[in-house]
Amino acid sequence: MTNCFANDCEKEATDTDTGLCAAHAREAYQRERMDKITREDAMPALEALCKLSGWSGDGEQAFADAFHRQHRTHQQSIMRMFVRLIMDMSQRAETHGMPNVSDLRNEASYKLAKLLEPTLRRYPLPYL
Ligand SMILES: [Zn+2]
Repeated sequence: MTNCFANDCEKEATDTDTGLCAAHAREAYQRERMDKITREDAMPALEALCKLSGWSGDGEQAFADAFHRQHRTHQQSIMRMFVRLIMDMSQRAETHGMPNVSDLRNEASYKLAKLLEPTLRRYPLPYL
């Protein structure tokens, strides 16, 4: 038996192409796939979310209901995207200064992102 090539992993290397265990090979595949996704690929999804969010808030619960009907791996991946967004907002506020990234329309979101970032850093969401 050959051990997984990933640091500190003692599982058997079952993926002959990469020398990784199944979990690490899946993670590496996912990372490679994500690297190929461009901003242009993300834009239609973001536009759909913007339409759904609207003024009334009705779309928020519809989104939550639809989310819970997704595969659990997709649920965690979607949560990871939101975590990434929150951490990115916090870092942009830090790097560029709040007045340069926010005004009254989104200031509360940036303030919340800055509060949440330390907790989110402590609890990374793995891809399983
Ligand atoms: Zn491994």
